[in-house]
Amino acid sequence: MNKLIILKLDMSYGGIRDEIHPVVLKDDTSCVLVDCGYVGSLGAIEEALLQNDILPDQITHIILTHQDHDHIGAAAAYRRKYPKVQLLASAEEAPYIAGTYKSLRLEQAEQLQKVLPDEMQEFGKEFCNLLKSVEPVLIDQLLLDGEKLSFCGGCKVLLTPGHTPGHISLYLPEMNTIIAGDAIALEDGKPVIANPQFALDIDKANESMKRLLNHPAKQIICYHGGIFTK
Ligand SMILES: [Zn+2]
Repeated sequence: MNKLIILKLDMSYGGIRDEIHPVVLKDDTSCVLVDCGYVGSLGAIEEALLQNDILPDQITHIILTHQDHDHIGAAAAYRRKYPKVQLLASAEEAPYIAGTYKSLRLEQAEQLQKVLPDEMQEFGKEFCNLLKSVEPVLIDQLLLDGEKLSFCGGCKVLLTPGHTPGHISLYLPEMNTIIAGDAIALEDGKPVIANPQFALDIDKANESMKRLLNHPAKQIICYHGGIFTK
């Protein structure tokens, strides 16, 4: 039976509490984890899976929506412990995730660091160090906009750039659901651009959010915020 399971993990960073929502897509032949938590969160992910009656070694694939540390942080550790797992990401994001190119978020954070006020310097430095601590991981399968994957009765890749250039969301027709990653976040239950000041292309981010909100799918799962029902 096809099942969509939304995980809930409490992560916190620099005194800021954050609740994240990786998703599991389960069908008769595969078990797909969408996004993979912060650096060091492998144990928390394993625990969240077990709480939902999923054994961590049952995960056959991990789809990474984009290169940010809170989405790929535990991916390398996951693969080391469960080497059979296949990793998927968009063709645009893959070289950043694999460490071939320097993370765009780190690039941005280092630029920002130069103009941060004194009282923010320490936080900025810590954030850069956090980004540097992300372990690169090779991507096995590159995804393209509009591509249809077989998971859960069909899973369509939607390129939703802006937050990062190759950010993807997933549409599951059978579930009437979109997994939005960071293309949309929820604030007090309302859809917003995730950290608009850090969007790498704010115009594209706005377009992508509109694209998802105008999509016929009834339910949108946001990594930061959880379920939004239209
Ligand atoms: Zn995020």
